[in-house]
Amino acid sequence: MQTISSAIQAAHHILQPCLKRALVLVDATAGNGSDTLFLAEHSLPEAKVYAFDVQAEALAQAKELTRAYADKIHFLLAGHQCVDEYIKDDIDAAIFNLGYLPGGDHQMTTRAETTLAAVEKFLQKLSLQGCLIIVAYPGHSEGAREKELLSAWLEQLPSRQFTAGCYQLINHKAGAPLCYIIEKVRR
Ligand code: SAM
Repeated sequence: MQTISSAIQAAHHILQPCLKRALVLVDATAGNGSDTLFLAEHSLPEAKVYAFDVQAEALAQAKELTRAYADKIHFLLAGHQCVDEYIKDDIDAAIFNLGYLPGGDHQMTTRAETTLAAVEKFLQKLSLQGCLIIVAYPGHSEGAREKELLSAWLEQLPSRQFTAGCYQLINHKAGAPLCYIIEKVRR
């Protein structure tokens, strides 16, 4: 069984130290709620967790899964590219788990253009030493396009202000999920 070598497990592992001090956390793609649950479980009791999704059924499932943390989670039926309309505070930690819901409608996948627009806004709103994690799935066609655009865009981020890295399995096929890690190191 994979423990920290899957992209999502690695993402959770990498986020943990940041969660210990984060007050504003965002799950940009709530889906069934497992990442929302992770953020709620590992953050401070006074932290606020925002969870976006464009599918009402996904948010309903996420709400059910995270019932024990209802007081600290705000669910938003909206696209993450509209983050600036919903969250006025700086963001301390955020995760994008891209693609579509396994077993769900594959048309409801994240799309390269809206993902890029959202990531740009999240990085502007990221607090100093805040961390943004993006798990990408290049194994399907929109996911491959999304990963290419994202990767090219992240590579040109100014290193004075951000560190951007990537966790990738190197002995798996090219379409295996991977995880980008971005930290704001200077305003
Ligand atoms: N984090 C989820 C979990 O733990 O179950 C899995 C997320 S799933 C791979 C991707 C989700 O992104 C889907 O539920 C989809 O509806 C959602 N999505 C697609 N476009 C979006 C957008 N523009 N803004 C927010 N969510 C979006």
